[in-house]
Amino acid sequence: MPPRAPTGVPHRERTTLSTLITGIGSLVTNDPGLGAGPLGLVEDAAVVVDGDRIAWVGPAAAAPAADDRFDAAGRALLPGFVDSHSHLVFAGDRTAEFNARMSGRSYSAGGIRTTVAATRAASDAELDANLARFLREALRQGTTTVECKSGYGLTVEDEARALRIAARHTPETTYLGAHVVAPEFADDPAGYVELVTGEMLDACAPHAKWVDVFCERGAFDGDQARAVLTAGAARGLVPRVHANQLSYGPGVQLAVELGAASADHCTHLTDEDVAALAGSRTVATLLPGAEFSTRAEYPNARRLLDAGAAVALSTDCNPGSSFTSSMAFCIAVAVREMGMTPDEAVFAATATGARALRRTDVGTVTVGARADLLLLDAPSHVHLAYRPGVPLTAAVWRNGVREV
Ligand SMILES: [Zn+2]
Repeated sequence: MPPRAPTGVPHRERTTLSTLITGIGSLVTNDPGLGAGPLGLVEDAAVVVDGDRIAWVGPAAAAPAADDRFDAAGRALLPGFVDSHSHLVFAGDRTAEFNARMSGRSYSAGGIRTTVAATRAASDAELDANLARFLREALRQGTTTVECKSGYGLTVEDEARALRIAARHTPETTYLGAHVVAPEFADDPAGYVELVTGEMLDACAPHAKWVDVFCERGAFDGDQARAVLTAGAARGLVPRVHANQLSYGPGVQLAVELGAASADHCTHLTDEDVAALAGSRTVATLLPGAEFSTRAEYPNARRLLDAGAAVALSTDCNPGSSFTSSMAFCIAVAVREMGMTPDEAVFAATATGARALRRTDVGTVTVGARADLLLLDAPSHVHLAYRPGVPLTAAVWRNGVREV
């Protein structure tokens, strides 16, 4: 860390203040060079935050001085969660649909179209306030980085405004005009793909970092998905893909072939799909909230990890199929149902989530990283899976600022 301001130099000459977080019972750094195992665990640790960055990490006994001091009182500190897949620009909710599904009753209302209609009818201010509320909800649970997709507008103007609104809150914005075929194009899916790869892309690209497509039976097939992703890539957007969620299909292979940052869902995979992911830079992002909320079969994280694939966990937070903003919940389900160890699940929710967003400044507690930190009301990160459903957030810092 930069040395403390020398005696006699008033603090006001410094642009930022440093804080020593000490008494950390167990620190997850995600850097094996700093501590034990893949999580780089350091016991009796300390961290110095200087401005918005981590300035020092190590044993508390060796910690340097800082302007301010926070006593973690033996609790566990880890990187803030990186939620690399969400759909949070929307209006309305789908309580009745969920209730019917979970009660074994058929439900004939419009599903995703219900959300599209409500989103189109909402004002910019309503959508912005809704998004801000969900981001605050996630922050209170330790999530400091959130990716956010469009996909409930499905017109040129409604998709562009969703991304404009999302971009006010996060740099991780994803153009998902190809979520489903817009209702106006029900009889002309090819015409909709033309719109998504043409005029809609032109309007959305300035506000997006990523391009995504729902490659699935009933949504977009392999050829259509390829057209959407390559058109987006030609405009500088990096691909990510909703792949192999409901059935086997070409999504994963396409993601790998096009160098997508992430193939998301990965619930129905052939051995070839697993091998392709393992031999690529493409992260397999698993979204257990979706299977939980639809009583569907979970993806097999163990199979992917054993093959050598990078696995991230994310919420898929959306009002239809996974209305949770809790990364801790996803960790607990992944450990119980998907064959992950608690260490693997925590790594997937932080370091690999960052990798799925091609970010090197978040997802670790290392010198130079953003000071995005989650202090648990527990002595170990294992409690995230060991104590499911329990609110364990003691404090959250984002960009070095204590937010919770
Ligand atoms: Zn999704």
